[in-house]
Amino acid sequence: MALYKHSQYIAHNSDEIFDQEHTPGTGAPRSGIYRCMGCQREVASNQGQPLPPQNDHQHGQTQGSIRWKLVVYADHREK
Ligand SMILES: [Zn+2]
Repeated sequence: MALYKHSQYIAHNSDEIFDQEHTPGTGAPRSGIYRCMGCQREVASNQGQPLPPQNDHQHGQTQGSIRWKLVVYADHREK
């Protein structure tokens, strides 16, 4: 599970982008932390770069395929 200390730097958002599951190797829609819905492994990926591929890690039979889901993304806007 992703961790943080200072709550003033992170905000709740209900954008449907957080509901989408992405197949291995597809482009990350945002720069941020992604969670594998099969085994809960987390990775960081940059926007437009491929999410980790199918052979990134192995799953047992009950975990299904690797599906990456966005957990938190970086806000690149200048303040
Ligand atoms: Zn996994």
